[in-house]
Amino acid sequence: MPFRVYATCDIGDAAFNRLRERGYDVEVYPKSDPPPKSLILDKARSGIDGLITTLRDSIDAEVFEAGKDRLKVISQIAVGFDNINRSDANLYKIPFTNTADVLTEATAEFAFFMMGTVARKTWPSEKLVRENRWGTWHPFLPFLGDEVTGKTVAIIGTGRIGLAMIKKCTGMDMNILCYDPAYENNNYVAGIQSLMDLRHERGIQSRKTQIKYVKFENALANGDFVSVHVPLLREGESATPTFHLFNEKTLGMMKPSAYLINTSRGPVVDEAALAKALKQRWIAGAALDVFEKEPLAPNSPLRDPEIEDHCRVFHHFASGATETRLSPDPNIGMAGRCVQGLIDVLEKNYGGDFTKMPYVVNKEAFKT
Ligand code: NAD
Repeated sequence: MPFRVYATCDIGDAAFNRLRERGYDVEVYPKSDPPPKSLILDKARSGIDGLITTLRDSIDAEVFEAGKDRLKVISQIAVGFDNINRSDANLYKIPFTNTADVLTEATAEFAFFMMGTVARKTWPSEKLVRENRWGTWHPFLPFLGDEVTGKTVAIIGTGRIGLAMIKKCTGMDMNILCYDPAYENNNYVAGIQSLMDLRHERGIQSRKTQIKYVKFENALANGDFVSVHVPLLREGESATPTFHLFNEKTLGMMKPSAYLINTSRGPVVDEAALAKALKQRWIAGAALDVFEKEPLAPNSPLRDPEIEDHCRVFHHFASGATETRLSPDPNIGMAGRCVQGLIDVLEKNYGGDFTKMPYVVNKEAFKT
């Protein structure tokens, strides 16, 4: 009997064809909006072997219970998996996979560009031109931006994407402050410091720059840019949860000239607090790729015209480069890695040992 797979979203024929060529029976939810939970439950009950999910689907005990006779794997097309209840998956002993690594550089470069676009006011500038409001060249009118080169960036969360962002910021002669309560990658930081020293010695950058791990408060107080690269971890899921890590108190610790860049997950930032901080100019600006509720509500305070020129908003687009999203090659694209994770589990690659499968996340459930 062929494996039956249900995908809650189209991830591209190139990837699906890898499954079809192996004889899999693949059904894809045809609409661009996510399917209702009731449909996912129906599909799970109908005896599918694998479920391909996006960050829009809530995957919990209800789904695992519905699929308990046959469902063998959840394969998520994203690195973040805060929509999947990990303890429920462990309870039902269902492995779930994600697509780490292949989106690291794309997401970091987007964060890097967001930093530039908000600080150098590229959007107000383009709007000025398009709306025929550009009068003449002038030394400082109608506005100026802030240079990125030579500034200090605070990297909150030095996992895969945070480290890639550090690498990109090094090219802009930036000082770098790192904060991560779980793991300090001192080897990487030492490598970047050597690179900074070499750039200075060879005259590639005029100023000497430094990278170091600091406390959270120090990172907030000294960053000209604060770039967030943490997973969404709610109370009880971690000793250092990230839900509303940026709130009135912590936004108040940032410099009035600083910018907040968020490509992590929306609920990491308290949006009401951020809108207030932007309106009252506690900070200079923010660039956001992710929101507490997506899509951004029509009445969100972040849409306030008063903050429009210093609040950039994007449609959860940081990993949205064509190859990154759709390549069927598991070493290049999220779609490829997503189907490979599914194939590994269903076809019992790695001797059927989930703890050895590179894309299975919840390995702890299968350790003996
Ligand atoms: P990762 O697991 O490699 O890194 C996350 C890091 O955050 C870890 O080093 C962890 O120790 C650290 N961390 C945990 N709690 C923290 C806290 N309270 N304060 C500071 N650091 C903390 O993950 P990654 O691959 O770098 O991805 C990070 C997140 O980015 C994902 O979980 C996902 O939510 C988000 N993401 C968004 C997009 C997008 O399109 N906008 C794309 C990819 C990933």
